[in-house]
Amino acid sequence: MNLESSMTTAVLPNVIPNLDPALESIAKKVHDGQRLSLDDGWTLYTTKDLWTVLELAKMIRDRMHPGVAYYNINRHLNYSNVCALACKFCEFARKKGDQGEYTRDLEYIKEEGRKAAASGATELHIVGGLNPYLPFEYYTDMLRTLTEVAPSVHLKAFTAVELVHLARIAKVYKKDDTKSGVRWVLERLIDAGLGSLPGGGAEVFDDRVHREAFKTKIGAHEWLDVHLVAHELGLNTNCTMLYGHVDTRQERLRHMEILRRSQDQALHRLGYAGDADGYIAEGVPESAEITAPVITLSGEGAVLPSPYVQGAPLVDSYPPAGLGDPKDMQVAKPTSMAPREDSRLGGYYQTITPLPFFPDGSELEHLSGPAGVENLRTIAVSRLMLDNFPHVKAFWIMQSVSMAEVMLQAGADDLDGTVVWYDITKAVGDGTHQETTASDLIKAINEAGYEAVERDTLYRRVVRDRNMWGVERTQI
Ligand code: SF4
Repeated sequence: MNLESSMTTAVLPNVIPNLDPALESIAKKVHDGQRLSLDDGWTLYTTKDLWTVLELAKMIRDRMHPGVAYYNINRHLNYSNVCALACKFCEFARKKGDQGEYTRDLEYIKEEGRKAAASGATELHIVGGLNPYLPFEYYTDMLRTLTEVAPSVHLKAFTAVELVHLARIAKVYKKDDTKSGVRWVLERLIDAGLGSLPGGGAEVFDDRVHREAFKTKIGAHEWLDVHLVAHELGLNTNCTMLYGHVDTRQERLRHMEILRRSQDQALHRLGYAGDADGYIAEGVPESAEITAPVITLSGEGAVLPSPYVQGAPLVDSYPPAGLGDPKDMQVAKPTSMAPREDSRLGGYYQTITPLPFFPDGSELEHLSGPAGVENLRTIAVSRLMLDNFPHVKAFWIMQSVSMAEVMLQAGADDLDGTVVWYDITKAVGDGTHQETTASDLIKAINEAGYEAVERDTLYRRVVRDRNMWGVERTQI
């Protein structure tokens, strides 16, 4: 059903028996680009009319990213799986001396950096456990080493949980003032080459869920404070929602609400004017007190935040040196390869990535975890509720490429990248080798009906005259 046309024509309850009248007022708000309430979110999560929910999410997604979906050429680097904590849903962490524990040395890291650059990757995604045996200098040395061997590869590194751990091991952490210690840490990491933050560690912002599933990990307040400091320092960040374990749908909706208020704050700081009379939820955590007005980006013609908008210069030399024969891989202007110094022109959340929980190997193995329809609906609800987030990612590692492809028709606009090695949790395969090819991602995007756009970490278009995977692409 085309919902745009349904706004002006009578609904067809006899032809579409599941058409839920409760969705009509929500459809009107979505059509008008208005913020949805938590009650609206509950209706979206519980209605039997799933297809209308998906269609509404698609409407917003298509408004924000008409005709295109994104992927990137990246590699993941997990530097250590040794972790001081023991979150119940985690199958990644090991204790020192456990079978399979590892900590990568600088030689290994250097080699990974070289491989990333040589493969044409534009991003290294770097996360690990809270290793109590590594000094703070290990992290700055890691970033400096990668900057040296892969100067054009963007370093997206360290979750909020790791950054608080780094403040602790650097002895600058203060329990009553997370922000000052994290600022100290981030300033040094930025100096060493940090370009942006991934979004892990958020799980579901709720005290009960926190107590039951990951009570020793930082809670919502600290997670939000870390991202707030990162935004103030001009870093773009991302966020996740690990759902389908001990959480409820109401708690997920609260999680989304807290994130969008945090994004209101970030966008307000960047000069976005919002609607002071818009819907403002109660109960946003105190330490991240949010006074910014509601800012939606889901209306017709809304301008999404981007480094381009903020005046970042375009760069016309890609690929970086050392990637191979330049005449084979020249790039048309304007290319969007981000020079490292441009990384700090942001200061907002780019992407929400809903991550379904996988019970296998975790302490919560007795739970069943969410399945396909719930995952599809959660992507759509995320798109509809997080009206001020530019991107919704269907992370193919956790969703599978086939399912992620379907999700592009249900609110998602990004599949993530080629990944190569992934040690955390995954839907596909048993090993840590989780590589897909750019041509597979392009094929999935094309099958979903969109033009595939290669992006860098900051969602700037990467254009290669002759792409190195032998797949024809139309340049936009
Ligand atoms: S989820 Fe992160 S912090 Fe928790 S045990 Fe696993 S690696 Fe450690």
